[in-house]
Amino acid sequence: MAKKGRVFSGIRPTGRAHLGNYLGAIQNYVALQDEYECIYCIVDLHALTTVEDTINLRQNTYEMALDLLAAGIRPEETILFVQSHVPQVTELHTILSMVTPLGKLTDLPTFKEKVRQNPNNVNYGLVGYPVLMSADIALYKTDVVPVGIDQAPHLEFARETVRSFNYRYNTNVLKEAAMKTTEVPKVLGIDGKEKMSKSLDNHIEIAATPEETLQRVMMMVTDPQRIRRQDPGNPDVCNVFSLHKIFTPKEDVEMINVECRRAGIGCVDCKKRFAANLNKALEPFRTRRAELASQPDRVMAILEDGARRARAIAEETMKEVRAAVQLP
Ligand code: SF4
Repeated sequence: MAKKGRVFSGIRPTGRAHLGNYLGAIQNYVALQDEYECIYCIVDLHALTTVEDTINLRQNTYEMALDLLAAGIRPEETILFVQSHVPQVTELHTILSMVTPLGKLTDLPTFKEKVRQNPNNVNYGLVGYPVLMSADIALYKTDVVPVGIDQAPHLEFARETVRSFNYRYNTNVLKEAAMKTTEVPKVLGIDGKEKMSKSLDNHIEIAATPEETLQRVMMMVTDPQRIRRQDPGNPDVCNVFSLHKIFTPKEDVEMINVECRRAGIGCVDCKKRFAANLNKALEPFRTRRAELASQPDRVMAILEDGARRARAIAEETMKEVRAAVQLP
């Protein structure tokens, strides 16, 4: 089937992916392959903007590659690579930074948020993060970028950057990528309050063992009003129930919805059921991941092949960019 165009997306090398990454991004990455020519990049250079201690960076990059491949990224068609393996992106980043007003960068809500989170590490790279992202998207002549609604301003920024470049150098070599807004479910962490995140330690790793998964699930905060077993609960405010809706057969979800409200099922039993369903759903992924993990050379070869294919596209774009800018 003819593909609809080229998709590009970058994912941060945060190590082993958690349920939030899986439901929010990775599953969508896998699905997009059916309709688009996909380029997926593990953005290790982006990670440097907030990570000071890089001792685990390589391992985290490798773990993310394992998760993506085990989840169903098909490297024979999709280009999967590590950002720093394509140095052209840093060259384009530098060139695009010359057409980017500084005030526009410091006004971005995401920049202000990052400053709030890391007040002691407000570095030049952090300010320029959206320019590096724009360079990534433009370098591969991307047609479509899948974004959650909260990232829409970043893509709009990338589109404006491309327009500024094309206008400044009176060219049309860079392409404005279209936005494909995807419904990204907000997956709460086991605390039931904040978005699932490794840094908050409220996550459940998809590659965890069934026992580890059960342990984390048993720590999940449920309806705060349900203190004793005999208290009726409210599934509408319970994060366990939200996840049941994704991983549990419909009839069981309906049963829990009814029984929870009349204290017919207790939270311990309910969580055990959820953990069992989650483990069952993730079993094929975990088997594939273990197989891949036993062949690290194969994984590295996939990433090298991806980088080689990505560099070929990147170099073609850079030839046009250099010509437009009158660089030798
Ligand atoms: S029984 Fe299940 S849905 Fe109800 S509060 Fe407990 S964990 Fe949540």
